[in-house]
Amino acid sequence: MTTQIPFDNSFAALKGGFFSFQAPEPAPKPQLLAYNDALGAELGISKGSDTELAAIFGGANVPDGAEPLAQLYAGHQFGNYNPQLGDGRAVLLGEVIDSNGKRRDIQLKGSGRTPYSRGGDGKAWLGPVLREYVVSEAMHALGIPTTRALAAVATGEQVYRETALPGAVVTRVAASHIRVGTFQVFSARGQLEQLQTLTDYTIARHYPDAIGPEGLLQAVMDAQARLIPAWMGVGFIHGVMNTDNCQIAGETIDYGPCAFMDAFSADRVFSSIDRGGRYSYANQPDIAIWNMAQLATSLVALMPEPDVAVERFTAMLHAMKDALRAEWLKVFAAKLGICEPQGDDGDLIADLLALMEAAGSDFTNTFHALCNGSAIDEISDRVAYVIWHDKWQRRIENETDPAAVMAKANPALIPRNHQIEKMIVAAQSGDFAPFHRLNIALADPFSNSPEFDDLRRPPNKEEIVPATFCGT
Ligand code: AMP
Ligand code: MG
Repeated sequence: MTTQIPFDNSFAALKGGFFSFQAPEPAPKPQLLAYNDALGAELGISKGSDTELAAIFGGANVPDGAEPLAQLYAGHQFGNYNPQLGDGRAVLLGEVIDSNGKRRDIQLKGSGRTPYSRGGDGKAWLGPVLREYVVSEAMHALGIPTTRALAAVATGEQVYRETALPGAVVTRVAASHIRVGTFQVFSARGQLEQLQTLTDYTIARHYPDAIGPEGLLQAVMDAQARLIPAWMGVGFIHGVMNTDNCQIAGETIDYGPCAFMDAFSADRVFSSIDRGGRYSYANQPDIAIWNMAQLATSLVALMPEPDVAVERFTAMLHAMKDALRAEWLKVFAAKLGICEPQGDDGDLIADLLALMEAAGSDFTNTFHALCNGSAIDEISDRVAYVIWHDKWQRRIENETDPAAVMAKANPALIPRNHQIEKMIVAAQSGDFAPFHRLNIALADPFSNSPEFDDLRRPPNKEEIVPATFCGT
């Protein structure tokens, strides 16, 4: 084999029931749909032929140095605790140290059953695999912390959902796959030794400056307080912010029913199962705090004086609300060309968002149009817009280079749901051109290339995707 992956595994050496060794199920007829060359190079992978890559990233060929395993975790799903989840359709091949010296996980998702599959088949179908590939890479290009996509492989077998669908595997690269739910499972079981091992491992791997469980909690809170406002700045709705989908390293993980908003609406929900709007656009900061409260609860048992720790952790959770608000202000101020938000800037932002919401303005296009002064087309209340615009212009008069700040904060292009849907439909009939084109366009989301004008257009009535479904 000429494909070499320089594995350097550490999680597989943890003792205490953190995982089950589990080989991937071989794809019967693996066909390489995509391989991310730039990411592969960053990970130090020397690649061989497409056939070889397809065999490896379709699970048919376990490469030298891999120690495939499925991780154990638990989690709150829509607020209800599920004591045992775990990788039900994923296996971690192993870890590499990337060209920046950072440890990264390489995981196959959709590669068959594991001890944690419960009733599931462990498989994925083509649609969610391509969606994850496109959207996670788009998030990365937008500058938002995220897991990455290294490869997509069609397995050549059918998976059965409501109908028979083509099976596929996505290879996900993450800072790690440790989640809030990884801590929850050991805490809930009262396995304090494992909880301590996991805490020490996580600190060493992700937050070496953090001291003890409290330092870890603060570091994770800080990372989440940066992540969620970044989502909001591009109109992203994760859709399933369960504690098992809340990653400790602070990357966006698990692109299931996620979606980018077209028309701005603060309460927007896409996921068909999110009936109460728990994971709506505007609820995401509060849910991040809720998730951190679950991490805090899990870590309390490791503290020498749990009662005192409860009080301290509670104070930290309250402070997180302010941290999220401050970061949100920074993100949206930058969208208006303001470097350091102050005074009434929160109102200035809120006023614009209210005008946008009233008009059903396209989130991405309105902010992008502000860069060249044409946003008036996006907002119906023209009188109010002119007043707002004057106020805004006065506010940025003394900013050094608002245009440059805005250009970096307002993408021209996001992965629009209707384009993702069209891409999936095309792929199902064997046409992967839209998939490749989306990847090319979204790699440079701040550029305004006329070649991709069609991808910037909001959906017309017939194209609107009203709801999304979990990525199983
Ligand atoms: P997710 O909605 O992707 O966060 O998944 C929630 C849980 O369900 C995780 O433990 C997954 O591993 C598991 N799961 C989702 N789909 C499948 C499947 N097709 N087969 C087995 N387990 C699955
Ligand atoms: Mg998940």
